[in-house]
Amino acid sequence: MKSKVFWPKKPESFYSASKSFADATTAALPSYTHHDILHPSPRKKPPLADLPTKTLLRSVLLTSAMASPLLPPLISLLKYVVDSKSPLLHPSTNPITNSILRATIYNHFCAGVNETEVRKTVQDMKTLGFKGVILGYARESVAKIDADGPHVEEWKNAPIIADRAVDEWKEGNLRTLKMVGKGDYINIKFTGAGPTAVAALARGDPTPPPRIMHAMTEICEATAAQGSRFWVDAEQQVFQSAIDAWTIDLMRRFNRDGNVVVLNTIQAYLKSSAENVHRHLILAGREGWALGIKLVRGAYIAHDIRDRIHDTKADTDRNYNQIVESLLSRRSPFRDLSGTTFPDARLFVATHNADSVRRAYSLSRRRIQTGLPTIPLEMGQLQGMADEVSCGLLAEYRPASDELWGKGAPVEASVFPQVFKCLAWGSTEECLHFLLRRAVENQSAVTRTQDTAAAMRAEVWRRFGWRR
Ligand SMILES: Cc1cc2nc3c(=O)[nH]c(=O)nc-3n(C[C@H](O)[C@H](O)[C@H](O)COP(=O)(O)OP(=O)(O)OC[C@H]3O[C@@H](n4cnc5c(N)ncnc54)[C@H](O)[C@@H]3O)c2cc1C
Repeated sequence: MKSKVFWPKKPESFYSASKSFADATTAALPSYTHHDILHPSPRKKPPLADLPTKTLLRSVLLTSAMASPLLPPLISLLKYVVDSKSPLLHPSTNPITNSILRATIYNHFCAGVNETEVRKTVQDMKTLGFKGVILGYARESVAKIDADGPHVEEWKNAPIIADRAVDEWKEGNLRTLKMVGKGDYINIKFTGAGPTAVAALARGDPTPPPRIMHAMTEICEATAAQGSRFWVDAEQQVFQSAIDAWTIDLMRRFNRDGNVVVLNTIQAYLKSSAENVHRHLILAGREGWALGIKLVRGAYIAHDIRDRIHDTKADTDRNYNQIVESLLSRRSPFRDLSGTTFPDARLFVATHNADSVRRAYSLSRRRIQTGLPTIPLEMGQLQGMADEVSCGLLAEYRPASDELWGKGAPVEASVFPQVFKCLAWGSTEECLHFLLRRAVENQSAVTRTQDTAAAMRAEVWRRFGWRR
């Protein structure tokens, strides 16, 4: 089905029922706070009301610890465990370490160790009201760049495992795909394919080595046949130009007839990101394929070439919001498309930032409401993070759409912004680097974590009827 421009019929009842998120104008969007997200409308259900009590209480404990001076020592401890070669400490050999990690951070941030556990978590998310999930195999490796060039510590002295690593990566992704359903995503990391991938990406090879190319084709075909989608994660800059080239080629082959099966990730903290979005738009427009963009701020500020990253957080924020606004208005964020038609496109806003979420949501709704052309918008946060933002969106979205469906309005559900949760699965050991990255990310976002902790505590008070 061709998903050209969005020209939905005007759903009056929908918008009047859901004023708060749709109120902002496109011209001058004010800044929003977590409070606005959490209290969108006095007549609606409290956003965190549907969160299971066990999850809520674990969240209160974890986010309070993460927003406190305890975080740096906890990160050092986790790093010590991650790097430890001692069988007495490592969770793969010590069941006590394993169960402590599982009961605390693993269960908060990860979906499960096998199909049964993961399927249950996926179902729980959908029951909460999420449109779907993005599922990824959590095993990851962060490259170190030193005199030997880019390399991954665990592979440095390993025997030649290159082909096996590609095959295992492919099987892992196909297995992940079987755990999700139609409309869900899986996320893929090219460096996960092992030393051959890392070497080719670091050289900036414009096409993947044949074994990886075959693996990718198989994954894409299986994803498209299942009616699912996948996005390719953005990684460190040393790999990123090749990641873009490989992913653009996949979009060229698989995003046909207006359907988006593959999305590439753009990191808005990069000074070149607006220009990179422009380049994607031009290529898609000229060659006639559909563009899928997942927009993040960027997770590698501590491991990457600093002067290619915006100088301040405020600059990154501005750039992020400007890219969102341009794409939702079917414009390039960099300059005029000079005669190239704006292509079929889809935007996934992947952020925990309440202000960006709200701006995107408001603008999308506003454009739909006023009959202006736009592109489909999806939004998502990571499991265990910014639940007040995700659930705030759900609280806003759900009752409104129920009212809409009740009146049989002729607007497809896919027109409205959809909310997803991004999950990672794998054994405790496989998830360690991922968990460490989440902990470090919380360290650089203490204010946001404090907001989350405050929201969780407020929900506990509300739920148990305590007065403050
Ligand atoms: C669903 C999902 C998928 C993701 N996938 C990826 C991915 O594929 N690749 C990837 O790299 N990241 C990914 N991320 C992580 C993301 O890039 C951010 O690191 C993380 O989400 C925090 O940023 P934020 O937008 O949520 O909000 P905020 O907490 O408001 O922003 C924090 C971010 O701002 C930027 N920043 C902080 N300080 C400065 C400074 N001094 N100067 C310039 N910029 C600064 C950094 O990017 C930092 O991470 C993903 C996040 C989500 C929610």
